[in-house]
Amino acid sequence: MRRKLVAGNWKMNLHWNEAMSLVSDLVKNEKDWNCDVLICPPSPYVRHTFEFLKNAKSAISVGAQDCASSTDGAFTGEISAGMLSSIGSSFVLVGHSERREYQGERGETLTKKLQHSIGAGIQPIFCCGEKLDERQSNNHFDVVQTQLEEALFAMSNEEISKCTIAYEPVWAIGTGETASPEQAQEMHSFIRDQVATKYGDDVASRIRILYGGSVNAGNAKELFGQQDIDGGLVGGASLKIDSFLQIIQSA
Ligand code: PEP
Repeated sequence: MRRKLVAGNWKMNLHWNEAMSLVSDLVKNEKDWNCDVLICPPSPYVRHTFEFLKNAKSAISVGAQDCASSTDGAFTGEISAGMLSSIGSSFVLVGHSERREYQGERGETLTKKLQHSIGAGIQPIFCCGEKLDERQSNNHFDVVQTQLEEALFAMSNEEISKCTIAYEPVWAIGTGETASPEQAQEMHSFIRDQVATKYGDDVASRIRILYGGSVNAGNAKELFGQQDIDGGLVGGASLKIDSFLQIIQSA
C-alpha cells in the first residue's frame, strides 16, 4: 500500500516573514494526517525551515525546488544536492515544467540531477507532463513516455526505488484548469505501466506518482481517490494555510 504524499511547491513566492508564518501555522495545525507532507520553500529558507520543523518535532519534511547537475565547482549561483542535503533537505523537485521551459532542462541534465540527489541521500520528485498543444494533438502519452525515457529511465533499479514521479500537465499548472480525475488517472496508469515494463511490477506497484496542476481544496479528494494517484504536488494552493490544510486532509 502506497502512503500518499502532499507536497507544496512555493516557487519564488513569500518573503521570509510570510514563509515562516506559514510554516508555523502548518505546524500549529499538524495532526496525525493520513499522508506524508512536504514543503519546498525557496532554497534560502530550507535550513531555517528544517530547524524549525525539527525543534517542533514535526513530521513535515522540507525539500528544494531544484538542484545543480554537478556536484561542486565553478558554477556561480548553483546549489548542489549535497549542499541541500547538508541543510536538511530530504526531497528535491527535478524537471519541473517551469525549469524545462525557462532553463531548457531535459534529458541528460535531468538524469544528472536525479543521480546527484540520490547520491546525496535526497529523494527526487521527477516532474513530467505535456503542453496543451501536445494534448490537443493527442500526443500526450508519447511526450510523457519520452520525458521518462530520456531522463528517469536512466536510473538503475536501486535508484528508481528512491524516486517519486509527479505528473503535471503544463496546461493545468497555475491556470486554474485541472485535469479531470479520469484524465489524470489514465496518465498515471500509463506511467505506472511504463515503469513496470522497464523495472518490473514490484517497483511499479511501490513508486509514488503525484498529480500536479491546479490542485485545490475543491478537487483534491476526487483526484486523490483515483487508484494510481498517490497524492499531489501543489503550487498556488500551498501558499494559503486553509487551502493547503484542506488538501492535506483530502488525502
Ligand atoms: C506546481 O507548481 O507544480 C503546480 C502544480 O502549481 P499549481 O498547483 O499552482 O498549478
